[in-house]
Amino acid sequence: MHDKTEERYIVVLGSLLSGIGKGLVSASITKMLSFYGLNVAPMKFDGYLNYDCGTMNPLKHGEVFVLDDKSEVDMDFGTYERFLNKSLSGSLSLTGGKLFSEIITKERRGDYLGSDVQIIPHMTNLIVERVRKTYKDNNLDVLLIEVGGTVGDIENSYFIEAMRELALTAKVVFIDITYIPELGVVGEQKTKPTQLALRSLMQVGIQPDFIITRSDKKLGDKARNKIALFANLKEDNIIDNKDVDNIYEVPEHLIKNGFSGKLMHALDLDSEIDNSKFQKWKDATSKSPGSRLNIAVVGKYVDLKDSYTSIREALSHAGTASRADVFIDWIEAEELEALEDFRSRLNSADGVLVPGGFGNRGIEGMINAITYARESKTPYLGICLGMQLMAIEFARNVALLSGANSSEFDSNAKHKIIDIMDSQRFISEKGGTMRLGSWDAILKPSTLAFEAYGTSNIAERHRHRYEFNNAYKDTLQAHGLTISGTSADGMLVEFIEWRDGYGIGTQAHPELKSRPEAPSPLFVSFIEAAIKRSKSDPNDSLSVRQNAQHKQQ
Ligand code: GLN
Repeated sequence: MHDKTEERYIVVLGSLLSGIGKGLVSASITKMLSFYGLNVAPMKFDGYLNYDCGTMNPLKHGEVFVLDDKSEVDMDFGTYERFLNKSLSGSLSLTGGKLFSEIITKERRGDYLGSDVQIIPHMTNLIVERVRKTYKDNNLDVLLIEVGGTVGDIENSYFIEAMRELALTAKVVFIDITYIPELGVVGEQKTKPTQLALRSLMQVGIQPDFIITRSDKKLGDKARNKIALFANLKEDNIIDNKDVDNIYEVPEHLIKNGFSGKLMHALDLDSEIDNSKFQKWKDATSKSPGSRLNIAVVGKYVDLKDSYTSIREALSHAGTASRADVFIDWIEAEELEALEDFRSRLNSADGVLVPGGFGNRGIEGMINAITYARESKTPYLGICLGMQLMAIEFARNVALLSGANSSEFDSNAKHKIIDIMDSQRFISEKGGTMRLGSWDAILKPSTLAFEAYGTSNIAERHRHRYEFNNAYKDTLQAHGLTISGTSADGMLVEFIEWRDGYGIGTQAHPELKSRPEAPSPLFVSFIEAAIKRSKSDPNDSLSVRQNAQHKQQ
């Protein structure tokens, strides 16, 4: 095969604007190269000065993704893992915060004695060092680096300079992602923004090898010709990547339009596509339209769908696996607080899901949704906060412990069903201090959780500070709540459920490990329960629903 001694990198940049799917294209390229039998990994540069994403607001930045190794990273890592079907390490995320913190530590230690510490060469050398170490430590054939932000931003300028320098001593293929707007009734594709953006890219010393265009419609010949001219490229190197309905089809699209072969050539690689790998991916991602399922997701960040990307994807993977066409009804939790008759808002749901979250807003609306699900026997899945609220709802309405709450929402609550963990009580720093990363759990046989996973030893990722309060275990179990999973030492409650109908809550975030080629067993079990429920005698379910409404009056 190829010469292993030569390092190969792909650098993906955006010269025009962000938010046009650079992460998706990057993930698709890594997947596409994996079909060629190559060992490939993605790395992400983010210029912000936060150390990691843990302290960012999901409504502004999208969901915080958590890796096995406790890293709180950009949501692009979720896309990478879902495509590559591989768990990645936090060392692949390089932020301005991490770099500046390392530079200052080194300076104080005296590593740079005698010199002025500067962005060039100290920062840029550190970046190149990290990139090369990642390549070697992982024994990679190709390392793809996605540069966050847009060319011209102050924040990512030193990352881009480091990549220019890397290209002086290693093989680097630069890919610029751009957007082609369409104007007027005839939808003429305009390339002027791209022409100007290319100028700013070349100004920092980078000549792209490929330009990938994002547009609503297929890239026209005229536009292609123009871009090629301004980019010093052959028309062949301008790659069209128009919008697709199913994001998992992008690798296939990039293979079919000839890009994969051109990229292999540019990387000086000559292996062939392994068709069985490619077919496995196509099988796992092609949707066969089945019965439509309506899943109500009741949360507080529904305004920005990116806040719940992993939930949306996990539901879609489970839907594809179970041949159901999952439609998500995003419901703002506060809406269910304000509604007189919240039950009728949920009446068309075949399943109800309450995802993770922090803080007080919308909590009572989520609890209303859980009451509805339990009473109407609509399948319920509670994720992290959704499990905590499931326990609180059960305590209030079944065990009749009025004043049941979490100390997160009411520090004087009479019954603190959910309480701060002892290990968390005296922590004042916010960054990276939650219960994070992958934790083992033991499931109890003959429970919904055990049936879903098909085994008693599992591991899922976590991100929270509060826990089920063991002082209430006996009371809630006496009223019929099942504790179906605990931490390996038995000290922490990990899964709870009710079996009169289907209700399951987990303190973990199983959505973070769900991938098209390995859908989350818990989401599959939930979707199957929802399918069963939607197929059950409509009169039966209607009477259950009416009954539930009746009770409220
Ligand atoms: N706010 C809750 C806690 O910190 C739940 C967190 C979550 O849902 N990720 O425990």
